[in-house]
Amino acid sequence: MDMNLEQIPPEEMAELQRSVFLATLEQVKGWARSNSLWPMTFGLACCAIEMMGVGASHYDLDRFGSIFRASPRQSDVMIVSGTVTKKMAPILKRLYDQMPEPKWVIAMGSCATAGGPYIHSYSVVKGVDQIVPVDVYIPGCPPNPAALIYGIHKLKEKIRYEAKTGKRVI
Ligand code: SF4
Repeated sequence: MDMNLEQIPPEEMAELQRSVFLATLEQVKGWARSNSLWPMTFGLACCAIEMMGVGASHYDLDRFGSIFRASPRQSDVMIVSGTVTKKMAPILKRLYDQMPEPKWVIAMGSCATAGGPYIHSYSVVKGVDQIVPVDVYIPGCPPNPAALIYGIHKLKEKIRYEAKTGKRVI
């Protein structure tokens, strides 16, 4: 017997809405990716100490599905924490290029965001976004581990939004 949605009694419809979950494949992939981010560490200076703190037992980043990787080929997020010098810039770009798509970048701290206290130094890049595209900026000198966790959650929101709309927001 054919039946369209209007013919379903309201109480059965309410039950259906509670028990059936509809999503596109892209949305499911976005949900899975956002809950399984594997950051590649790129600790360059003092901010890296706070980044290390986030992986330790007190902040325990693993509980959000994020596990630090030492290899770019196993990572989908680069967390740049610290001062990016002009000598380090080509190495950072090479490692970013070695990460498989899709990939994202977090600039942690004011040095990675815009040069920080070394903004007038001849040897410092004034923001890692001059080398690679940055998705999330975390202010502070240094930001504490809780701020980094907040930034990672913001990135998760962006990934899910991208999966839903097909639009990447930089
Ligand atoms: S932002 Fe501050 S704490 Fe972070 S690397 Fe630069 S100087 Fe160090």
